[in-house]
Amino acid sequence: MTAPLLDVKGLAVRYGHVEAVNGIDLHLAPGRITTLVGANGAGKSTTLLALSGLVAKAAGRVQFDGTDITALPPHRIVASGLVQVAEGRATLTTLTVRENLDLGGYTRRDGAAARAADLEKVYTLFPRLKEREHGLAGNLSGGEQQMLAIGRALMARPKLLLLDEPSMGLAPIIVQDIFRTLREINREGLTIFLVEQNVRQALKIADHAYVLENGRIVLEGSGALLLNEPKVQAAYLGG
Ligand code: ATP
Repeated sequence: MTAPLLDVKGLAVRYGHVEAVNGIDLHLAPGRITTLVGANGAGKSTTLLALSGLVAKAAGRVQFDGTDITALPPHRIVASGLVQVAEGRATLTTLTVRENLDLGGYTRRDGAAARAADLEKVYTLFPRLKEREHGLAGNLSGGEQQMLAIGRALMARPKLLLLDEPSMGLAPIIVQDIFRTLREINREGLTIFLVEQNVRQALKIADHAYVLENGRIVLEGSGALLLNEPKVQAAYLGG
C-alpha cells in the first residue's frame, strides 16, 4: 500500500465543554478523492479547520507528505501544500476575479511564469472566470463564486485540496458542474478531501469515504460501497 499523503491519528477538538471532534483517524491516499460526510453539527468543518491549523487540537497527530504538521501555524501549513478552499466562497467581493486569483498565488516563490501558467489552467477549467476576469467578484453568481474560490486555492499550488461543502446553496445543476470539475482536477493528479452534507453526490465521486457522527468516524469504505450500505441509505439517502 502506498503511504498516505495525509495521515491523521486521534484528532480531537473541543470548544469549551463541547467535544466537536473525538479522536478520529483519517488516511488520505495520494491522487484520490476522499470524502467526509455527516449531518449538520457532526464535526466536519471543525475537522478541516483543525487540519488547516485554524482551531486548536486537543489531541492527535497530523502527518502531511511525510512531515509532522500538527503544531504548524496556518500559513506554514498552506505553504507545505495543504490548501483549503475558503468556506462560503469568501471571495473578496470588491476585487476583480483576476485580483482574487492573483491573491491565491501570492505566497508562491516559483516566479511569475509559473503563476501565469497556472492562471491559464484555472481559466481553462473555468472559462466563465476568464470571461469575467475584469469584473468584480461581488457580481458573480453563487456558482461562479464557488468556482473562483476553487480557482484561488489552485493558484496556491496545492498538493492536497480541502473543500468544505462546495455544494452549499447551489442549484443541483451547478453542483453537478462543480463536482465534475473536481473530478477533472483530481484526474490531473491533485489529491482532494471533500467535506459534504450532500452525501449522495460526495459518495458518487469519492474513491474513499468516512462517515462522521457526533465527532466520531462510524463507517468507512469506498464511495460505491457506502452508497449501497443500508445504514447510510437510511440515515443520509432518504431510505
Ligand atoms: P455543519 O455542516 O453545520 O457545519 P459540521 O459537521 O461541520 O456541521 P461543526 O461545525 O464542525 O459540524 O460543529 C461540530 C460541533 O461543534 C457542533 O456541536 C457545533 O455546535 C460545535 N461548534 C462548532 N463551532 C463552534 C464554536 N466556535 N464554538 C462552540 N461550539 C462550536
